[in-house]
Amino acid sequence: MSALPRFSMSVDDGHPLDLRMADLLQSHGIKATFYLPMMNQEGTPVLSSASMRELAQAFEVGSHTRSHRFLNTLHGSEAWREIVDGKQQLQDQLGEEVAGFCYPGGRYQYLHKLQVRSAGFRYARTTQNLRIDLEFPLFEMPTTAQFYPHTRSVFLRNFISQRHWGKRSAALGASLAAEDWLIRLHALLDLAIAQGGVFHLWCHSIDIEKLQLWDQLDAFLSRVARQIGTEQRVYNRDLIAASAAVSTADGSQQSAVKEINVNAFQAGEFKREESDAN
Ligand SMILES: [Zn+2]
Repeated sequence: MSALPRFSMSVDDGHPLDLRMADLLQSHGIKATFYLPMMNQEGTPVLSSASMRELAQAFEVGSHTRSHRFLNTLHGSEAWREIVDGKQQLQDQLGEEVAGFCYPGGRYQYLHKLQVRSAGFRYARTTQNLRIDLEFPLFEMPTTAQFYPHTRSVFLRNFISQRHWGKRSAALGASLAAEDWLIRLHALLDLAIAQGGVFHLWCHSIDIEKLQLWDQLDAFLSRVARQIGTEQRVYNRDLIAASAAVSTADGSQQSAVKEINVNAFQAGEFKREESDAN
């Protein structure tokens, strides 16, 4: 049995407030992965090049495409450019390889998994929630919860639309037990701790600012720091190694992307819907 629970955190979209988020995380000794687009076509600002480099010195930095366009709305060749250019431009800024990718809006199809892999990324994160296990494909890393006051009905809707029900039902049960969204998050953390799983929190800094949730996030991270040991607070890239270890240990195959045909990825013929609701 794996024993100790792990904690990982994702911060999406590269808003300048990510620097405030970084300070908060460092005050608790918590690691996180920041997924940065080079610009945001929705009009929200993004970090300067200097700030991106500053973040990368203390945290894992992954790519979130070039301009944060939802891949499922693009032609195959446009999606490819968003993925490849986002990686190259970010690497040029940082002067180092970027291994992780996150699908904007959690929206993607089978084609996009192939493209992300072909671009040279080693893993990709989704917005699937209510997962505390490590048995996921490399290009579909799930999460546990967003730090956001979602209603119960949103949890239920997402539960239905995002599939993998067997692996998510315990977390759904824990999260629906409480009316208050913050109590739900604590219940999910209780579950991950009890089962020795991973709690993967994600958020947007701009949401925390708009909803004035900094104090609540501070309190939540404070609890994480009390209950999850320093070595168990990990970057998302570390979850990949842990995930492979789990798959080997129980004899199951990483369904990941070993066997898929990457030659046809630009043809845009793949129709299998894989997008996550958000
Ligand atoms: Zn995003």
